[in-house]
Amino acid sequence: MSSLSSSATPRPAVQPVAIPWRELQPWLLFGAVLALVLLYFVGTEQGVFHLIGGSGVHEFVHDGRHLLGFPCH
Ligand SMILES: [Zn+2]
Repeated sequence: MSSLSSSATPRPAVQPVAIPWRELQPWLLFGAVLALVLLYFVGTEQGVFHLIGGSGVHEFVHDGRHLLGFPCH
């Protein structure tokens, strides 16, 4: 019956840590570049505009391409 008493002990309130803007900027830029590269491979990597030969990348992201409404075939 004392199992609940241990969880009822007061704990210090958890405060969110503010991330300074200058430390956040490079990570936001990295995420944006990563998102653009992913968007390129999903939306454009095929035919004349391919960076990697063959149809492996095209087939790998094929469902994502249709899901996002990019023209395909
Ligand atoms: Zn398709």
